[in-house]
Amino acid sequence: MQNLFDASEEVPFDKLHEECGVFAMYGHPEAANLVYLGLYALQHRGQESAGIASSDGRIIYCHRKMGHVADIFTPDVLNQLPGKLSIGHTRYSTAGDTALRNAQPLSVACSKGQVAVAHNGNLTNAVELRRELEADGSIFQSTSDTEVVLHLVARSRERTLAGALRDALLQIEGAFSLVFLAEDRIIVARDPHGFRPLAMGRLQLGDGKEATVFASETCAFDLINAEYTGEVEPGEMVIIGPEGMTREFYTKPEKTAHCVFEHVYFARPDSLVFGKPVAESREMMGRLLAREHPVEADVVVPVPDSGVAAAIGYAAESRIPYKQALIRNHYVGRTFIEPSQAIRDFGVKLKLNPVRHLLEGKRVILVDDSIVRGTTSRKIVRMVRSAGAREVHLRISCPPTISPCYYGVDTPSLRELIAANNSIQEIQEFVEADSLAYLALDSLSDAVHDRSGKFCYACYTGHYPTLIQIDENSLERALR
Ligand code: AMP
Repeated sequence: MQNLFDASEEVPFDKLHEECGVFAMYGHPEAANLVYLGLYALQHRGQESAGIASSDGRIIYCHRKMGHVADIFTPDVLNQLPGKLSIGHTRYSTAGDTALRNAQPLSVACSKGQVAVAHNGNLTNAVELRRELEADGSIFQSTSDTEVVLHLVARSRERTLAGALRDALLQIEGAFSLVFLAEDRIIVARDPHGFRPLAMGRLQLGDGKEATVFASETCAFDLINAEYTGEVEPGEMVIIGPEGMTREFYTKPEKTAHCVFEHVYFARPDSLVFGKPVAESREMMGRLLAREHPVEADVVVPVPDSGVAAAIGYAAESRIPYKQALIRNHYVGRTFIEPSQAIRDFGVKLKLNPVRHLLEGKRVILVDDSIVRGTTSRKIVRMVRSAGAREVHLRISCPPTISPCYYGVDTPSLRELIAANNSIQEIQEFVEADSLAYLALDSLSDAVHDRSGKFCYACYTGHYPTLIQIDENSLERALR
C-alpha cells in the first residue's frame, strides 16, 4: 500500500512505499478473533497500525488504530467485531504520514453496498488515477493508494461487487494482494505479476464444516491450525460467499515477478512464501555465499534476526563454527526514551549487545541479509571490533541494493542507497570491514529455485518488470 501525496505536495514517488500484511477469514463463528491471531503472526510485516473489519451478514464493523496488534485488540474491542467473515491488515508507513486515516481496512458504503478493503503492495499508477478521479469529482478521505480502488469500485457501472471489482482491477497497475469484505462475502485478488504473496488455506470446524483463510504468509495459518492449500494465483480473483467458492482469472497473467526480497529479508523464516519455504532459501543463500566468498576465520556470527538463517548456511558450508555473538533485545519499544545527551550513538546498542568472550581475539565472519544505507552495518562492525574481534569480514546474502522498490518494499531513494552510489570497495571502507562480499544474482536465483525467471530482482538490477512512471522532478531529486 502506498501513500499518495496531495496533488499540490511534491513528495518523491519513491519515498512512499509501505510494507503490509493481510489476512482474511470466511465461515468461522469467531472470525475476528482468528484474524487477530493471524495479524499477530504477521506483525513483522508492519508495526505502525493495524485494523480488523468483520461482517455479521448485514453490517460491516471496523476497528483501526495506530500501534501493535496485541495492544489494539483487547477482548472488548474484539467483542465489537461480530460475524463469520473478517479481514485484517497490519501496516508500516515510511513517508512520515502515520495518520490514522491511512490505517486499514478502509471501509465505505457505496452503490455496491458496504465494502472494506485491505491491501499489500503498491499501485504504480495510483497518482494518475487519483488525479483523474478527483478531476471527476471524487472526494478522497485518505492519502493512501488503496482508496483509489474503492473509488473505482464505487464508480463502476457493473451491478455486482465482483463485476465492479473486476472493472477496478483492470485499471490499477503495480503490486497488489487485496482482500475485500462485503456483507456476505470475501473477495481476494492478486496482481497479474504476483509481486506480493497471498496464500490460501482451510480450517476444519468441529461440525464437519470448514472455514477458508487467506494470508500474506503461512506462519499466520500455523498459529490458528489452518492448513495451507495453495496460492491465489497471479491475475486471479477468488470469491467466497453463501453460494460457495469461485476462482477466476480476471485478466490474463503477465510474466510472473515474485518479490525476491520476501525470501531475502521480509518474510518470517517459518513461512512458505510463493509456495517455497523461506528458511530453506535463506540457508541456501548462506551456503552459496560461503562457496562464492570464502575467507579464513574463526567464527561465523549472524546479525540477528535478519542474518541468522544465512549465517547457519554459511557456517555449515564453510565448516567454521557458528556463534551467536550478538544478542538482540526483542523488547525495544517505540516508547523508549533515549537520554539525549547522556550516551551518544545509543541506537544500535539498545537492540544488540556483543558477547565479548566469543569475539575477543577472533577473526569474525559477520553475516547479514542486506545493506541499504550502510549505517547499521557500520555500527555493528564497530561494535564487533570494539568487543575485541581481530578481523571483521562482512558477508551479505543478496546482491548490492542499487534501485528503489516500486512494488511495496520500503527502500529509500536512489540517493540514499549506498550501493547505488559507491563501489563495493568504497562500501567496505564506509562500514569499516576487513572485507565485504555480496551474494551473486545467479546464486540468489538458485537459492529460491527460480529456474524459469519468476522472481523480480529490480532492487538489484534496476530492471523493473512493469513500466514505472516516475515524474521527472522526483527522479531528478532522487539522483541529486
Ligand atoms: P542500513 O544499511 O543501515 O540501511 O540497514 C540495513 C539493515 O536493515 C539490514 O540489517 C536489513 O536487515 C534491514 N533492512 C533491509 N531492508 C529493510 C526494509 N525494507 N525494512 C526494514 N529493514 C530493512
